[in-house]
Amino acid sequence: MESVDFSTWLKKMELNHPLVIAGPCSAETEEQVLKIAHQLKETDATVFRAGIWKPRTRPGNFEGNGVKALPWMAKVKEETGMLTTVEVANAEHAKLALEFDIDIIWIGARTTVNPFAVQEIADALAGTDKIVLVKNPINPDLELWIGAIERLHTMGIKNLGAIHRGFSSFKKTKYRNTPQWQIPIALKQRFPTLPIINDPSHICGEREGIFDVCQTSLDLKFEGLMIETHFDPDNAWSDAKQQITPARLNEITEELKVRKGRV
Ligand code: PEP
Ligand code: MN
Repeated sequence: MESVDFSTWLKKMELNHPLVIAGPCSAETEEQVLKIAHQLKETDATVFRAGIWKPRTRPGNFEGNGVKALPWMAKVKEETGMLTTVEVANAEHAKLALEFDIDIIWIGARTTVNPFAVQEIADALAGTDKIVLVKNPINPDLELWIGAIERLHTMGIKNLGAIHRGFSSFKKTKYRNTPQWQIPIALKQRFPTLPIINDPSHICGEREGIFDVCQTSLDLKFEGLMIETHFDPDNAWSDAKQQITPARLNEITEELKVRKGRV
């Protein structure tokens, strides 16, 4: 895996550098998805994210619209030209994401911890030239993160990247998930060409700290940002406290000097 140039897909995409992925935590309704996507089209975001299968920590919360939201993502692409990305948590999700031509597939933090689940997803995606991004496991375990990436690589998936979303800890800190920057830095040292996308939303758990976490990740030469965005964050069906409006996203990327077409 060391000898592969993982950054090739990023170069080929010619979108923006750093890559900006934005969109709601959850795809709530078709109207909500399209409204956010149209607002994001006017920002530096070039990839639209939305969770349609939501593995929640505790039962009783919104667990996503599932397959019925996949055509909404297709509409986003058709109407805005943005690429699309969703989280998959099992082999069935992975097959459906391929079937509906989702551009980028990501594996969530609660799935990366489970080697059997990752292997089943890797088997379902075998040989795909879609981009697959692996979030860090919820626990600070670099080897487990690398192991998930290796399982995908072994199945012939070459367009790989990582997402750093912080690590859970029992101790209360100012972060929802502590960044523990040394871990993604160590990942970068092991695989220098592996693009790493920072997810400040799940690190912060609230809106306040997002700019600073973005800035730190860009200072550390991360290749992109994934930021949860909603036109009405306070009324979002999941992760309401940490979502920002597309207008706020614009201010942040402007201040960070992220620009479309700046490769
Ligand atoms: C998400 O991206 O909405 C999500 C559930 O993230 P994580 O897997 O990082 O908790
Ligand atoms: Mn979320």
